[in-house]
Amino acid sequence: MEKYVCDACGYVYDPALGDEAAGIKPGTAFKDLPDDWICPLCGMGKDHFEQV
Ligand SMILES: [Zn+2]
Repeated sequence: MEKYVCDACGYVYDPALGDEAAGIKPGTAFKDLPDDWICPLCGMGKDHFEQV
């Protein structure tokens, strides 16, 4: 699955890791994240992410 990078801070969302602090299980594709998911580092929304 593709990784996505935050264009504001450089955080990389890796589907293999998920975002457990936000309740996102490992194996969750970026497109399957909830629409209100935000960058765990800077708080930007999904529309600020680009595929790596
Ligand atoms: Zn960010």
